[in-house]
Amino acid sequence: MTTTDQNLPAALGGAAAFPEGLPLTRLEVPGREELLARLGRVLDSGMLTNGPTVRELEQRAAELIGVEHVVAVSNCTAGLMLVLQAAGVGDGGSVVMPGFSFSATAHAARWAGGTPLFAEARVEDVTLDPADAEAKLKAADRPVALMATHVYGTPCRTEELQRIADAAGVPLVYDAAHGLGSSRKGVPVGNFGLAEVFSMSPTKVAVAGEGGLVATRDADLAATIRTGRDYGNPGDYDTLFHGLNARMSELHAAVGLAWLADLPQRVAHRGSLVATFASAVAGLPGLRLALPEEGDVSTFKDLTLILDADAFGLTNRQLADALKAEGIDTRRYFHPPLQRQKSYAYLGQAESLPVTDRLAESVLTVPLWTHMDTATVRRIADAVVRIQPHAEQLAAAV
Ligand SMILES: *Cc1c(COP(=O)(O)O)cnc(C)c1O
Repeated sequence: MTTTDQNLPAALGGAAAFPEGLPLTRLEVPGREELLARLGRVLDSGMLTNGPTVRELEQRAAELIGVEHVVAVSNCTAGLMLVLQAAGVGDGGSVVMPGFSFSATAHAARWAGGTPLFAEARVEDVTLDPADAEAKLKAADRPVALMATHVYGTPCRTEELQRIADAAGVPLVYDAAHGLGSSRKGVPVGNFGLAEVFSMSPTKVAVAGEGGLVATRDADLAATIRTGRDYGNPGDYDTLFHGLNARMSELHAAVGLAWLADLPQRVAHRGSLVATFASAVAGLPGLRLALPEEGDVSTFKDLTLILDADAFGLTNRQLADALKAEGIDTRRYFHPPLQRQKSYAYLGQAESLPVTDRLAESVLTVPLWTHMDTATVRRIADAVVRIQPHAEQLAAAV
């Protein structure tokens, strides 16, 4: 191999950046000794679900977010279902929501009895476009709720969305699955809308194994969710409404507590990794990142590249192939967008979101995890930098 081969992308015969392979995420449970001791205490207590450890997780999360009420649930999807049910989304009315989100956003509305009405994303930061959301609310026969997702942890335009929801007279519910640790103009995510629902599943920034947190300033709503996560049983088995079993187990709460301990530091480290990546790829044509507005904080649940294929020279799929040759795992978050998924074909909205379609064809999420070191993120960026000048040749090869 000649020395110039070292500068060739792996797909063209150069050395792979990560011959051992680099997964999209890597889990490292923090505070293992303390966690094992806590799990031991849970097992000894004989109370394995919905007990004092769950209460402690709820309290710690409420303190961290600075919100009055946090109700722990079995997962974010169930939390969204219960919030939407409590908000009165039960009669098939339209729930306006982003097409550029994860399936659970729409599924939760559907399980709660609503009908998704998909709206566009903002090109700048890929969160819900308030103008299109407003238009969709106005066009709907019977709008019953507005949902928005803090995509990748980027806070939504919360002020505009609240104004639009208020004008339409509907509740605003956030899918905050990615947003535990994000903030908008200094206010932590968890304080916006009627409620915000976080996920603590393993690909998220704070992990319980499986788990969700409903954050709200509304005491009545919090009480309804507490009843709803327990079949709608207020305690005397005379159920008030058709709830779920959406309780969080004590074991999951113990794991979740371990991750909350130093969440702000973890989020800050992720931000510095993304800043390192951003400066390393800054000169490349046709490549940008979905970044929060100045002054906002993102968890960077995902580090997602947004490509202009004409300027960059490769589509997201072609770049994914070239990075695969480097040993780097990638995903297209979110592709296909919701309005194009088979489960929502019945709505006939597949062709309704051209901006979202373009975004879904432009995004590529690269590996990032909380304890990743700077050298690794730099190596990912260097691989992209090495690939781009060879785009034409690669486009023909991959
Ligand atoms: C992961 C995810 C969910 C679902 O969270 P669960 O806790 O797995 O139910 C919902 N919305 C978004 C945007 C997600 O990424």
